[in-house]
Amino acid sequence: MPDHGKLRLHNVTHVYVNDGGASLAVDSFNLTVGQGEFVSLVGPSGCGKTTVLHLIAGLLRPTRGEVTIGGAAVTGPTASVGYMLQQDYLFPWRNIQDNASIGLAINGKLTPDAKSRVRGLLQELELSGTELRYPHELSGGMRQRVALARTLATEPDVMLLDEPFSALDMHIKLQLEDLVWDTIRRRGQTAVLVTHDLAEAAAMSDRIIVLGRNPGRIRLTLDVPEELRRTSPMEARRHPSFQPLFEQLWEEMDVEEAASSSVDVRKERNGHHDEKV
Ligand code: ADP
Ligand code: MG
Repeated sequence: MPDHGKLRLHNVTHVYVNDGGASLAVDSFNLTVGQGEFVSLVGPSGCGKTTVLHLIAGLLRPTRGEVTIGGAAVTGPTASVGYMLQQDYLFPWRNIQDNASIGLAINGKLTPDAKSRVRGLLQELELSGTELRYPHELSGGMRQRVALARTLATEPDVMLLDEPFSALDMHIKLQLEDLVWDTIRRRGQTAVLVTHDLAEAAAMSDRIIVLGRNPGRIRLTLDVPEELRRTSPMEARRHPSFQPLFEQLWEEMDVEEAASSSVDVRKERNGHHDEKV
């Protein structure tokens, strides 16, 4: 299998510098994600997850160290990386078809072939019939599927997902997890998902990286059992191996959160979500 989607962060350090001074967001970060592997990053808020994705996407340059994709150094944004965010950022004045093809248009690659590929993608993501409609006419879940189509349209080797499901209702979220997992897997893409939802990380990934508090460092790596990797997120959640993995992750996060004490994890665990501070 070719390695064009193999991702490597080698001793990556990132320091934000602005008027307020300098802050170390990512410290000597090492990570290799194999071609076609699905990795999740979890960790307390502010630990550097989004910064890591920005560095992979070439939106930020590391202060030290190097990011490579397929062996080539990342020096800026490239078409080989797709980025999906919590907000869909669709253009309200463009119809769905034009929103889905914007990446291709920007890259000057909106050929007739590419156009028909976009139509195929919209069909695959069950958006047929919405081509000429506008974002405000669609539900949140549909809009996020358009954002997925837009990201897939440029055929990236690496997919970066920064909490793409966290603004959605539970039911839609579970459906979209399956859809995203399935489309990424069928294309053999490499994926890095950032999520605060430990069940989502356990259900979707091959490997879970738990980050420590700021500055971003890897605290622990958990390999997801083979039987969970093979199954869709929805099925994985029902598998007997799921709960032990989830519990283990929870305990790791508990240790991390107790150290930062910004969130009372135990309260959340007992169902008092509104007491999260
Ligand atoms: P996460 O995604 O894990 O919540 P981020 O990567 O967004 O964390 O942020 C990591 C750290 O870097 C935090 O302390 C945050 O305040 C800081 N940070 C993020 N973006 C900037 C920025 N543009 N300028 C200065 N500091 C930043
Ligand atoms: Mg973030």
